[in-house]
This record gives sequence, C-alpha cells and structure tokens, in this order.
Amino acid sequence: MSSPEKQPEMLSFLRARKPALLRLLKRFVRCESPTGSKAAVDTFGRMIAAEWRKRGAAVEFLRRKEAGDHLRVTWPKKHVRSNQNPGRSNQILVLGHLDTVYETGAIKKTPFRVRLGRAFGPGVFDMKGGLAMALLAADALAHAGRLPRRRIVFLWTSDEETGSKSSREAIEHEARRSAAVLVLEPANGPEGQLKTRRKATGTAELVITGRAAHAGLDPGTGVNAVHELALQAVRLMRLNNPRRGITVNPTIAQGGTRSNVIPAGARLTIDLRAEKLADMRRIERKLKALRPILPGASIALEGGFSRPPLERRASAALFSHARELAERLEFSVGECLAGGGSDGNFTAALGVPTLDGLGAVGEGAHSPNEQVIVSALPERAALLAALLATL
Ligand SMILES: [Zn+2]
Repeated sequence: MSSPEKQPEMLSFLRARKPALLRLLKRFVRCESPTGSKAAVDTFGRMIAAEWRKRGAAVEFLRRKEAGDHLRVTWPKKHVRSNQNPGRSNQILVLGHLDTVYETGAIKKTPFRVRLGRAFGPGVFDMKGGLAMALLAADALAHAGRLPRRRIVFLWTSDEETGSKSSREAIEHEARRSAAVLVLEPANGPEGQLKTRRKATGTAELVITGRAAHAGLDPGTGVNAVHELALQAVRLMRLNNPRRGITVNPTIAQGGTRSNVIPAGARLTIDLRAEKLADMRRIERKLKALRPILPGASIALEGGFSRPPLERRASAALFSHARELAERLEFSVGECLAGGGSDGNFTAALGVPTLDGLGAVGEGAHSPNEQVIVSALPERAALLAALLATL
C-alpha cells in the first residue's frame, strides 16, 4: 500500500467542492430511477455515464431487455487497455446501484432540498449520494496526482432494489477478477458505521393444498389448508434463533375462498435471514425436510435464500485499513452488522474481500424522510479516494 500523505489535501479539496457535489446530487435525485421503469433507469444511467466520460473514463453499457442497462466504468483511462487482463491483483471493484425504490413522481411530494445541514429527496441516501461521492473522489485523486495503481471498475447496476436478478452474473464476474470490492451502499446510523457483516436473506413460499368441502354439510370430507398453514407457521417459528442471528418469519398468509367452505388452498410467505453460511445451509435443509402435518394435505416449497451472508472474515482486513485511513482524515469509523443484504453479499461469498456501507451518512432509506448529512459527504468521499489510492 502506498503512502497516504496526500489525504488531508484531498479532504480540503473535497470540502471546497461541496457546492459542486450538492449540485450533482440534486441533478441525480431529480432524475428519478425506479427499478421497474427501464426508460427512467436508462436515462439516469446516461447521466452518470456522461459524468464519467468527462473524467476520461471508459464507459460500457451492459444492455438488458427486462431491466435497466448496467454501467461498467473503467477509470483511470490508462488502465482501459488492460481491461482484458484477468489478473486478480490488478483490479478493484466499486459497486453501486442506479435504481431506487420510489415510483416516478415521488420527487413532487418530497422535492430535493437542503435544510440545516441535511439534504433530502428520494434516493438521496440509498444511494445517489454514493454515486456522487464516487465522482468527486475521482476528481480529488486526479487533483492530487494520486491516480490509483490498479484498474478501478465501477459497476453501477439497475436492479439492486429488487434482488439483482439481471446483474448478479456481471457482479460475480467482475468480483472474481478483483483484489477487493468496495460497496457504496449507505453507512449505518448517524455515526456512519461501515457494514462489515450482512445477513443472508431470502423469501420462501409454502404452497399448501387441502381439499374443499361444505363447512356445514360434510366438513369431515375436507382437508383444511388454512389449518395446515397455521400448524406449519408454528413449526417454522421454532427455527428462530435470534442469538445466532437466525430469523424465520411467516410474513404473509393467504388462504380460503368463502366463509362456509373448508379451504382447499393456502399460501405462506416466509422471510429468511441468517448471519452464518452454515446456519443458512442448515435452515435450507430444514425447509426442504418440511412435510405435511394433516392427513391428506400436501405442501410445496418455492424460493429460499437468495443472498448468502457477508461474514466478517471477508471484511476484517479492509475495515481495519479503512479505519486507519479515516483516523488520518481526523474522523473515526465504526462497524456494524446489517440485517439486510446487498450486492456485497454475493462478492463476499466468492471469497473476495468486501467492505460495505462506504456510501453516504444519513437516515430514512426507503422512506419519505430519506436524507444525508451534507458535511459527511466530502469526508466519506475522501475516505473512498484514500482507499482507492492505497489498496
Ligand atoms: Zn441500496
């Protein structure tokens, strides 16, 4: 790792650029990009692409039909020709997403605004703040003459908020040829903790089939699917072990057709989370082993865990390096466990060192109150720049 002596210089450069950063953020937030609208996400993607091209980066669109296009940005330009070199030590991957959870028009109800040191707006925290920070971090590195030794690939994807179905392959492909992965998801809490652990997450559906019958005339000939659902829900609750970070929660129950009919069908949605890979596997085995309880009922399980956990062994070394860099910038960063997943879960599961939560500091993600702390934007951008310069 090269010496970080220019860090304070980069921080003062970034603090001076705060108005430019806010202007960029305002444009990004106003360009709404809900996951479900390909046209909107693509428009926002082109806006980001133009910013990177201004900085001399090579931008590639990974075209998708069903989702927005993903953006693969290689910077600095001197590394573009080495794009084909698969050497793992030669590349750092920075992950972020273009999409937000807000429907088009949300900006009218909660317009972008800056008040009392906070910037508000849909997606400002998750994670347009992170996207703006990355651009300013590149500016700071160029200004300080600290262009990274390694090729930096920024992969800005279009469907993180709905599970990364169209981007997972590209994320894993780039991660496999990277020495480290930095994820610009929001930091945690007002202190801006980095996310060194994330739970495995997933959703399962238990589809229950019984037999319909008249509830008054011949209830005995029916098999009550809602009764089976209730018994299964009780059994599923026993899989919980909060001390080990395992939660299994039936969250949506549906069943039956009419008040006087023994229900022939029911459906149970189950939220799944686990802190350790071994626990995730164990829960998967137990779910597979579920059998019907009532005579005559049948069950089928669909779905399951979709993101493996980010375990601390994947993030520990990067975190202690980041903490040292932050100290030189005269702020401190802590760490935390996040109950939700991100694309960092995929890369950590491949054994690639991954540090998450390197984006904006704020609160209210996925809510009308979404906001970032303005003074933290240059600080976190300086930390990102320092990581890119020294990894
Ligand atoms: Zn996010």
